[in-house]
Amino acid sequence: MPLSASRPVKRIAVLGAGIMGSATALFLARRGHAVSLIDAAARPMSAASRWNEGKIHLGYLYSADPSLRTARHVLTGSLQFAPLTEELIGCPVAPATTATDDVYLCHRASVVAADAMAHYYRQVDDLVRSHADAARYLVDVRGARSERLDERALRAITDSPDIAAGFQVPERSVSTGWIADRFVEALAAEPAIELQMGTGVTAVRPQQADDPAGRWRVETADGVAGVYDHVVNALWQGRLPIDVTAGLAAPQTWSNRYRLSLFVRTNRTVDAPSVLIATGPFGDIKNYNGRDFYLSWYPRGLMVDSSGIAPPPAPAQDTAREAAISREILERLTAILPCVERIASDAESMVLRGGWVSAAGRGVLSDPRSTLHRRDEFGIVRLGSYVSVDTGKYASAPLLAHRIAQSLG
Ligand SMILES: Cc1cc2nc3c(=O)[nH]c(=O)nc-3n(C[C@H](O)[C@H](O)[C@H](O)COP(=O)(O)OP(=O)(O)OC[C@H]3O[C@@H](n4cnc5c(N)ncnc54)[C@H](O)[C@@H]3O)c2cc1C
Repeated sequence: MPLSASRPVKRIAVLGAGIMGSATALFLARRGHAVSLIDAAARPMSAASRWNEGKIHLGYLYSADPSLRTARHVLTGSLQFAPLTEELIGCPVAPATTATDDVYLCHRASVVAADAMAHYYRQVDDLVRSHADAARYLVDVRGARSERLDERALRAITDSPDIAAGFQVPERSVSTGWIADRFVEALAAEPAIELQMGTGVTAVRPQQADDPAGRWRVETADGVAGVYDHVVNALWQGRLPIDVTAGLAAPQTWSNRYRLSLFVRTNRTVDAPSVLIATGPFGDIKNYNGRDFYLSWYPRGLMVDSSGIAPPPAPAQDTAREAAISREILERLTAILPCVERIASDAESMVLRGGWVSAAGRGVLSDPRSTLHRRDEFGIVRLGSYVSVDTGKYASAPLLAHRIAQSLG
């Protein structure tokens, strides 16, 4: 939307150049504002937003929250993901979208039993089908219907005694590396965005105590930047300590988990389904296009599990340790999903990469009472002209960014 004569140009600092900050910066710049996008990394979109699985959640993952609060909370953003992302990057997301519906396998140690899972999935089907935006998902889900796999279909995927049941659910994912590359191009093409990369943010403070305009300065390792009319804090795992410097109260406990997964490219097409083993500390495989795959085994990829508001640094690279983790992820997945052996044997490249999962909640995934099984509270908090955004899910970022841009004028 072009800037109208009545809307003043504002100077806005957006902190964090993941999908949350990048999408916010693009929407604000296109509304005519002057945006500084500040990040400690050398390049935008190089953290969790590049190295995640890209599931555009309809709510099926959250069967341990039978209240459906999480499903409702994630659904609206996910149904807007494709149209808003396409507006931001200027091209369709279809080339990055998985070609088939996901399969969810119920592990015998799941925190939700198979029949309860089936009941929950039917309720999510109803939620999805009745949503006004159901046609706007990555594929049209107005007819959303999960289906329990019969024995033959299940055994074509797994003969593991650890698996109690399987379900096909109408959920899709996007290749986050592909999307990240498009965001980097869109940021570079936007003259109203000044990229300040390699710049760690240490604090945000009012420019002076009695400034009637409520403007801000941003303190970085290199000095002080600003004055800004607004600051948008989209620093993900780095967000809460900066909120405290701006004057927002931080929660007492938080969960920051650093997770590594395998990103594999094969030298020929491999016929493999996208499968998630639910619900608890298990793993999944994602087949984006027959040659690009995401493989994870949660307990082996979990490198840091921290409950403070400021997590320790991400673990340094260690080639020998990463080789051992990669081997074990492949072994654990292959024991349940034999198709993983073909993905590994046809691999032309395989990298172990990761990012933070930053969430309200505590506990461990093997505990059904853990609040990590819920994602029903993330979103936008404001302190005057200062905005702090908990992305919650990759899938929700474009809608949250759109809301922030609209609210800032
Ligand atoms: C393994 C894994 C799988 C996941 N799977 C899914 C999924 O399938 N679907 C889904 O919806 N979500 C998923 N997620 C969650 C998703 O990745 C995140 O919700 C999303 O990417 C967060 O985006 P962001 O822009 O807030 O954070 P990021 O992309 O991490 O960006 C934050 C930026 O802030 C910068 N930063 C932090 N602190 C500072 C500081 N003090 N100063 C300067 N810069 C700083 C970082 O350098 C980084 O660039 C997954 C996450 C992981 C790790």
